[in-house]
Amino acid sequence: MMKAQVLVDMDGVLADVYRQFIRMEKQESGIGLQVQDLYGKPESQAFPSYEKHVRSRGFFSTAPLMADSVEGLRYLNDAYKVLIVSSATEFPDSLSEKQKWLQTYYPFITWQQMIFCGCKDSIRGDIMIDDHLRNLHTFEGKKVLFTQPHNIYIEDDRFQRVMNWREIMDLL
Ligand SMILES: [Mg+2]
Repeated sequence: MMKAQVLVDMDGVLADVYRQFIRMEKQESGIGLQVQDLYGKPESQAFPSYEKHVRSRGFFSTAPLMADSVEGLRYLNDAYKVLIVSSATEFPDSLSEKQKWLQTYYPFITWQQMIFCGCKDSIRGDIMIDDHLRNLHTFEGKKVLFTQPHNIYIEDDRFQRVMNWREIMDLL
């Protein structure tokens, strides 16, 4: 039997970019952002130095892992055909950082499974796990919305919301 193809996003699903932004903001300005104050805000508005930090060297290579994502991705990788799909060309310097980061923390993911792209709307699959509606909207398969502070207030029956990787393992 053909395994179903699952598309897994990086930022906000595998990589805990909120923790990274909060850490960098604290280092830079001493401002200690509280994650609950960022609920419902786009990331570019939630973080005062968003553009500077997301484009700085090391942002992606030192990003913390989302809790339980190693176990969760290993579980998916055994049960499904997994592709990691990341809009990496938005931040061109991120491509090599993202590839090395994946190889370091998820060594069971091969280079053939890494899709670094621009817009995700041409990538096909059966299930997509992503934190951004703009990526899920154009997807034709099952849409799994990974909860992040920016999307926390969105209620939409077209998406199956999961709070964390434990819930992904329960769902899929
Ligand atoms: Mg994302």
